[in-house]
Amino acid sequence: MSLIEITEVRKSFGTTEVLKGINLNVEPGEVIAIIGKSGSGKSTLLRCINGLETITDGSIAVAGAQLLDDEVHLKALRLKVGMIFQQFNLFPHLTVGGNVMLSQTVVKKTPKAEAEATARKMLERVGLGHRFDAYPDELSGGQQQRVAIARALAMQPAALLCDEITSALDPELVAEVLAVVRELAAEGMTLLMVTHEMKFARDVCNRVVFMHQGRVHEAGRPEDVFANPQTPELKQFLGVS
Ligand code: ADP
Ligand code: MG
Repeated sequence: MSLIEITEVRKSFGTTEVLKGINLNVEPGEVIAIIGKSGSGKSTLLRCINGLETITDGSIAVAGAQLLDDEVHLKALRLKVGMIFQQFNLFPHLTVGGNVMLSQTVVKKTPKAEAEATARKMLERVGLGHRFDAYPDELSGGQQQRVAIARALAMQPAALLCDEITSALDPELVAEVLAVVRELAAEGMTLLMVTHEMKFARDVCNRVVFMHQGRVHEAGRPEDVFANPQTPELKQFLGVS
């Protein structure tokens, strides 16, 4: 059984169909890069997997549990998959430690001492153990994004969904965030990441999925997809002819 099973998923906003029958299975420990033009449905797909959007048709299962559109199921699902966004969305009035503890204590009802121990461990993991008491605005963008990663990890998710998590960062801060992702990948974390970092996708991912107009247009191993794109659309996207 795959960790994430996406079967014939369709998603419409009003009369506009944005996902047009997506099939994708993600195995435990797989690191998948999702690439494609703006508007091709990449974010919508991740948001559907995380239950932030309800799907119009098809099915999504995470660790064998069907994603059904009711609050109990959605809550259970969101505990299984973590999501990190382009914007870090840290609470400015909470410390770094407070941010990483919050969903543990609120959503999971983890006792405070345990939540704090987990927060310290996860901040250690992203290289920010020493900034537990700092406030977000005292950190660089790269550090804030690493806090957001620690916050997601603190929920002990079975998979992490990353939506262009380096796109809002100044170029010199991108590498430190990618280094953390690379380490998570090496440790066996299942990762589904929308990214424009083609070199990173080539080096770190097991599989590349190219989305075009709401469909998985082409997919395969990075060495094949990048070196030998099959469709005109992917060739154009990669800038090869
Ligand atoms: P990508 O992440 O690949 O750039 P998105 O998934 O964000 O693409 O968007 C795919 C399409 O869905 C776009 O045409 C976008 O305008 C549309 N879309 C996304 N979210 C909404 C929404 N909440 N309401 C209406 N249209 C939306
Ligand atoms: Mg997007």
